[in-house]
Amino acid sequence: MRGVSTRKVLNNLKKRLQWLRDHARFEVVICAVIGACPPEEADEVVSFVRQLGFGARVLLVHDSQGQLKLSSEDLKAFENIVDKLPRKWPEFSGYRRELVRGRPAPFKCRADSRYLYVDEYGKVNWCSQIRNLWSKNLMDYTTNDLREQFYRYKSCHATCTLGCARSASQLDNWRSQPGFSS
Ligand code: SF4
Repeated sequence: MRGVSTRKVLNNLKKRLQWLRDHARFEVVICAVIGACPPEEADEVVSFVRQLGFGARVLLVHDSQGQLKLSSEDLKAFENIVDKLPRKWPEFSGYRRELVRGRPAPFKCRADSRYLYVDEYGKVNWCSQIRNLWSKNLMDYTTNDLREQFYRYKSCHATCTLGCARSASQLDNWRSQPGFSS
């Protein structure tokens, strides 16, 4: 069932993606989410967008706590697709490879500082998956909050699959975070 809907989405989008290729004056990066569709279709999406000259990224579907949620078939597809993609700096940590092999990939999560997630109620949360541990109205958010959250240890980091938060946190990996050890 999910295969039917994904194929339909790609077919429907092909023409619009071609327009984007012809007219966009900005860099276009398309993400395929492994686990959100049958593996062969994720491969198809990546091949298609690369033919168009777009950048492609592979993300991993995660559960409601931001943790990995993939079948062994999905994991194989991930390895195959990643091997075909050029490496770019946000991917340097190779955390996805560690996670899909069942190993932890610790990082100092700077959520609510370098990476700000604002929900539909105007509240800042650590990320889309962790909403119950910290929350504050965006309009009350201060530079002190940014500083505090920068240094705040997030216990969910080792198996976190949130690529955006990981990328945004990466440049500050050399800075300390009390409680963090790897
Ligand atoms: S490590 Fe950070 S981004 Fe990942 S689930 Fe935890 S709070 Fe969210």
